[in-house]
Order: sequence, then structure tokens, then C-alpha cells
Amino acid sequence: MKIKRITTQRFSAPLKHPFVTALRRVDRLEDIIVTVEAEDGTVGYGEGAPTPQITGETLGSIEAAVAFLSPLLEGSDILESFDALIETVHSSIKGNTTAKSALEIALYDLKAKALQMPLYKMLGGMQRRFRTDITISLNSTEAMIRDALEAVSRGYDTLKIKIGESVEKDAERIQKIHTALPADITLRLDANQGWSPQETVKLLQKLEHAGIVAEFIEQPVPAEDIEGLAYIKERVATPLLADESVFGYRDAQRLLEMQAVDYINIKLAKTGGISRALKLADLCRSYDTGCMIGCMLEGPIAVAAGVHLASAKADTIRMIDLDAVSLLASQPLPGTIRFEEKNITLSDASGLGISL
Ligand code: MG
Repeated sequence: MKIKRITTQRFSAPLKHPFVTALRRVDRLEDIIVTVEAEDGTVGYGEGAPTPQITGETLGSIEAAVAFLSPLLEGSDILESFDALIETVHSSIKGNTTAKSALEIALYDLKAKALQMPLYKMLGGMQRRFRTDITISLNSTEAMIRDALEAVSRGYDTLKIKIGESVEKDAERIQKIHTALPADITLRLDANQGWSPQETVKLLQKLEHAGIVAEFIEQPVPAEDIEGLAYIKERVATPLLADESVFGYRDAQRLLEMQAVDYINIKLAKTGGISRALKLADLCRSYDTGCMIGCMLEGPIAVAAGVHLASAKADTIRMIDLDAVSLLASQPLPGTIRFEEKNITLSDASGLGISL
């Protein structure tokens, strides 16, 4: 099944509420959908959302990178040349991890469709049902409590609280949110690089002293501050999860060797797609370190790819943070994968189970 042409289109969908972290504020989902069309008319879909503050990419740069790579892939057979196509994507241009991921997802979708298999099965997975957390955006404490209670009323039992403003405000905010919620709700904290190592230790020790131990604290310090992560890990009981500090295999290897974190957040937009995410999960497994699968503020095709990956590496990817579809005002694309608030269920349709 030869690849005839590869195209991109811009995709946009409104959010239920603005998405706010310590790094940015977003009111709409804006991303790129990649379509890989085979000569017989079969199509594979991929998707990637630019997060300039994290990967350095924009809508225009993703389009340009895919346009640069496409002629190198067109004309090749998706089944006979699959591994070579993936290597071409990665060896022909540095960086551009979201563009590579969007293109890779489309290649994997097309291959699975050519084999008439759901992608998770093609990757060796069995699990079909997953439970995601939901993000509570950084806001006034009152608004965050309101959003958290609303999420609980919609059935969520795990909340990812965005913080990272100032440690004093954040400590008070977390304590108030914790008090307002039912006792069986699990809290994940994500500071998006907002604190120093010393501030992080101070804040977490304060929370721990008050009996609040979150499931983890995610990326409290700037991405480059690897020593800072190790400093924190030695001093607090709350597990530490690296997000922006780990894009790919080498970043992870360094952190794992230093025993600087407890968990790693895998995102396809950081690894450059599924092939590298599979290797990253295997690396973490060899260090007996669990992973979370996360997503950018991206659309259902990209999120679906994360779910298939989670199935393929269910032994290592034990936490699911794939809430981007639930943050949209409505589900914008047809598909057989079901996103029902916290419950995500894969189908046995070929490929990703989602289309345009
Ligand atoms: Mg994060």
C-alpha cells in the first residue's frame, strides 16, 4: 500500500473554559491534522498542537516541518517500508517533536488500517478501558474550588491541580481545595516549572505536615534544573514526576541514573511520536519507574494515539492524564473510541478509531 500524498490542515475547536497554567492561557484548541493518503484511498490521520513555550513549535512551524518531510515519505509502501519511514521522519530534521509526532501518528494509523487491526493491538496491547484525571486550571482559589467540585460532580475522582504562582498562595490554595473536596478524591499537583527547589521543599513539607500528600508533584522547577529535582526528591515524601525535563530517551536516562524523580510524564508531542514513546516506556520499565501518559491541549486524534500507547505499555504507563477531549466544548470528530468524561474506551475498529 503505497503512500500517495501527505497533507495538513488547521483544526480549531472551542474549549469549555479557558485553560490556564503557570506558563500560558489558551481559549481555543488550535492544532494541525495530518492526513496520509494511500494509493487505494485508505487514509491515516495524525494530529499535533503547538505549545511554543514547551516544544518551541507553532502552527506554521508544524506545517513547514511536515511539508519538508512529506516528499521523503511519499511513494513508499506503508507496510514494506514502515520502519524506514519512521527513521526518515526522525533522522531528516532535528527537534520539531510535535510535527514528527503528528506525522508518525498518521503513519501508525495508516499501517494499522492496512493490517485491519486496531492500533493498540498492532502495538501488542490488550487493555481497552482507561480512566483519566481532569485538569483544574490555575485561577483564583474560589474559582478553582468551584471547578474542582464541578469536576467531581461529573464523576472525576482524580484532579490535576495547576499551581506554580507563588509558594505562599499555592500552599493556601491547595489546602483550601483539599478541604473543600470529598476525602476520597486523589490530587495531582502540576506547578509547570513555577518554583525553586527550596520553595518546593518548603511547600511540600508544609502540606505533608498538614496531612496532604498528593499522588505526585509534577515539574515544580525549571526544565533544565535536574539537580533541583534530585534535591527535592531527597527531602520530601510526595512523589516527584518530571514533565518538561524529559522530552526523550536521553533526558530520561540521565534522570533515572541520578534517581532524581519517581515518575516520568510521557507525551507524544515531546518524544516525537509513538516509536520513541515506546522506547521511552521500555527504558522506564528497566529502571522500575512508572510513567504517566499526558497530552498537550490537543485534539481527539492526538489524544487517541496516547490511549493506544497506554494500552501497549499498560505495565509501565500506570497513570492517565488524557483529558484534552473533555476540555472541549463538544467532541468535534466522529469515531468509535469513546471519550465519556473520565472513562475512555478503545474500540476494535482498525487504526486509531477516529476520523474527520
Ligand atoms: Mg505538566
